[in-house]
Amino acid sequence: MSGGDNIHPVFDRMLGRQVKEARLGQRGIVIWLYGLSGSGKSTIAIALERRLADEGFFTQILDGDNIRSGLNRNLGFSDEDRTENIRRIAEVAKLFAQAGVVTLTSFITPRRDLRELAREVVGAEDFCEVYVEASFAACAERDPKGLYAKAAGGGVSQFTGKDSAFEEPEAPDLRIPTEHLSVEDAVELLYQHVIRRIQPN
Ligand code: ADP
Repeated sequence: MSGGDNIHPVFDRMLGRQVKEARLGQRGIVIWLYGLSGSGKSTIAIALERRLADEGFFTQILDGDNIRSGLNRNLGFSDEDRTENIRRIAEVAKLFAQAGVVTLTSFITPRRDLRELAREVVGAEDFCEVYVEASFAACAERDPKGLYAKAAGGGVSQFTGKDSAFEEPEAPDLRIPTEHLSVEDAVELLYQHVIRRIQPN
């Protein structure tokens, strides 16, 4: 049974998004950070979240730690599973944004069609596409999780940038070139880009 016929929307009886955003004093948004492993997504997400929290904003980070180990633990790294991974993350991010939460996601999202899918699921008006840019060589040099060394020895299957492609974006909302910026300046760039979108009307 598909279940589709048995879903009875109750949206008209649920507390609306505007009420929640007014209560929180902010607007919900999904800040979709993507780029190679080691490019700086988590570092920037964590630092921005702390800064926003200090200013009274209510936030949530979705990353590999809280998604791949739980909701998506049955998914691997095939093309099909990467698509399903992103689809589910985008659906969850959308729920957070609709509850008024400033939502930061930190996933490689290696293909353009995956970024498009995320934008479509979340809705363009709530979606902020941020390319955290660093070359494969720079990320391999940083190797914060030891994954590049492991992948070089053949210990990681379908490693992005080596065995599976990372497609450069054409027109992200924001590009953060982390090879040329300090962490502080990278966070400042993102903060300046998103602050107006999360402030209440
Ligand atoms: P990802 O989440 O993309 O896999 P991480 O944030 O875990 O990457 O690691 C990025 C590494 O790069 C960290 O060691 C961080 O200190 C370093 N780094 C250097 N410059 C920057 C920058 N401008 N922005 C973010 N990270 C940077």
